[in-house]
Amino acid sequence: MSVPWFHPAVPFRCLGPECGDCCSGKHGPGAVWVNDSEIEALAAHLGLSVAEFTLQHVRAVNGHLSLREKPNFDCTFYEAGKGCTVYAARPSQCRTYPFWSKVMAAKWKWDSEAEVCPGIGAEGASTPASEVEGLLAEDQARFPDGRPSK
Ligand code: SF4
Ligand code: SF4
Repeated sequence: MSVPWFHPAVPFRCLGPECGDCCSGKHGPGAVWVNDSEIEALAAHLGLSVAEFTLQHVRAVNGHLSLREKPNFDCTFYEAGKGCTVYAARPSQCRTYPFWSKVMAAKWKWDSEAEVCPGIGAEGASTPASEVEGLLAEDQARFPDGRPSK
């Protein structure tokens, strides 16, 4: 079996919370997919019931559940300069970014993702393949059939 292209490491270092480009509406509308267990974790983190949390922070997109966005397309939990206000309970897709299956599928896809994530190729950045594989496995377990379409 050939060694994946991202061995032994990829040039990535998160520049957040100062960056926040993957949480803000800088690149237009998006979706932060959440399942029942992620909703429960976020609701507990905020001290809300699941019903309250869902009413305030969740919306349906093409039959799937996503966090709401502010009118400027920022994630409902993103605050400029502070970053994610629910960081400890953030959903899987936030924890694993940018090591998503669809991004890691080919080096050219990874290179393209640098247009929206300045941490890719940042000076001095390096993430070992072992860490990439762990996050990639989490992403594949969370979205075994790929992500819903937005
Ligand atoms: S866009 Fe990339 S560098 Fe910026 S906060 Fe998100 S993961 Fe980090
Ligand atoms: S939940 Fe937090 S990490 Fe995820 S998109 Fe929203 S602000 Fe960003």
